[in-house]
Amino acid sequence: MARYTGPVCKLCRREGDKLFLKGDKCYSEKCPMNNRNFVPGQHGKGRKKTSEYGLQLRAKQKARRYYGVLEGQFYHYFEIAERKSGVTGENLLRLLESRLDNVVYRLGWASSRAEARQLVVHGHFTVNGHKTNIPSYLLKAGDVIAIKQGSRDSVKVKEVLEANASRPVPQWLDLNRETLECKVINLPERSEIDAPIEEQLIVEFYSK
Ligand code: SF4
Repeated sequence: MARYTGPVCKLCRREGDKLFLKGDKCYSEKCPMNNRNFVPGQHGKGRKKTSEYGLQLRAKQKARRYYGVLEGQFYHYFEIAERKSGVTGENLLRLLESRLDNVVYRLGWASSRAEARQLVVHGHFTVNGHKTNIPSYLLKAGDVIAIKQGSRDSVKVKEVLEANASRPVPQWLDLNRETLECKVINLPERSEIDAPIEEQLIVEFYSK
């Protein structure tokens, strides 16, 4: 399963925005975006992105990096979004939000999407009662996600739950903090997706 393994803070600096890829560090003074908010590299401070194509490319790259998805899979999501009825950009974001690793992160069951991905791969979660270890698994309305019984006593899982207990959970997810289960009420509307992404620019990028 391919994934990006390079330095992640550089990705935020490249996109000029906090993408929250590092868990706790993102909320601390140590976040490089506090004092090095410029594009990495020798000419980083002097670079300007002005062309229309440049803006569209950056919007697409930013979304990919935010959700931790590689190019091929991202384009695959775009194709699915295009075939669905409704607004393509919103369909695309809804698909990305419905990934199991994203939902695990949104629930505060992981400090970052990368950690969520790892916990999913390690088999700590069930979907509708079945162990599911595929980070890209797409959830739908009515699905119930839970932390696997055998994983609830895991030191790692306990640490993560404690560290993220105060993180707000989106309204489209009905989390029961006692039973460690969550029902997907519905897939989110654009207004319910807290992501710094200009999806219309992504649609324009792929529509050329
Ligand atoms: Fe981005 Fe987090 Fe690194 Fe800050 S600490 S640059 S938000 S990944």
